[in-house]
Amino acid sequence: MIVAGIDIGSVSTKVALAVNEKIYKVVIPTGWSPRQAGEHVLAAALDQAGVDGGVDFVVATGYGRIALPTANKAVTEITCHARGVAYLLPETRVVIDIGGQDSKIIKIGAQGRVLDFVMNDKCAAGTGRFMEVIAARIGVDVAELSDLAKDEIPVELNSMCTVFAESEVVGLLAKGTGKGEIIAGLHQAISRRISAMIERIKPESPIIFTGGVAQNKSLVHSLSTQLNMPILVPEDCQFTGAIGAMLIAADMAGSLGDKVPTV
Ligand code: ADP
Repeated sequence: MIVAGIDIGSVSTKVALAVNEKIYKVVIPTGWSPRQAGEHVLAAALDQAGVDGGVDFVVATGYGRIALPTANKAVTEITCHARGVAYLLPETRVVIDIGGQDSKIIKIGAQGRVLDFVMNDKCAAGTGRFMEVIAARIGVDVAELSDLAKDEIPVELNSMCTVFAESEVVGLLAKGTGKGEIIAGLHQAISRRISAMIERIKPESPIIFTGGVAQNKSLVHSLSTQLNMPILVPEDCQFTGAIGAMLIAADMAGSLGDKVPTV
């Protein structure tokens, strides 16, 4: 039996494909067509797994989930993230997920049951896209932000609106402020914003950080300092939603029984 979870995000599309008990994971940019991205990412994973035929059950999630007609079922991101996290780190009580276009905080109970959540999808501030815009303005890639900010003293940033923050960064660069100080300042501003969201759900340990932005270790450190709580980042932080969708697909197909795949 072959099942797949496809997470079609605003920036990147991820798949977790289970072929018997082995998992294949692929991420590609979403680009202009969520439907094509979903089809391509699945084809790439099937190719990697050396599978010729089709998939028995596919669950799609993410903002583009309704764009994939070949999926057997579309499930919300909150449900899939909670399921994925409960599988990767079962003791988790709070999930912070920062993706390309939104940020969400999910409070979860046993077996990944969603107890409460707070979501910001109205404004790009503090999201992956925001980081990409600022990184481009500084002339670096998002993957370099963490190292550049490490051990730097954060400069105080006043704007969180992407457009105004970009202007503020241009002004700081013109005054000779170092890239590292600016990025550390950005991390601090994002951490304050996320902390304010978390306070609304009364956080409990352990807190897990997922989504592509969680790969930024300096941001994780800044957020942990701001919250005064430890934060764990699973190795597959960008694939949590896809893994949750894959597990739901396995349940729906009734295929794997007790043989839950090892991620
Ligand atoms: P979505 O599901 O909304 O497409 P993801 O969870 O896939 O979002 O995260 C995408 C974001 O992750 C990008 O906008 C980018 O800012 C960030 N990102 C991707 N790779 C890295 C990296 N190596 N370090 C830091 N941030 C990263």
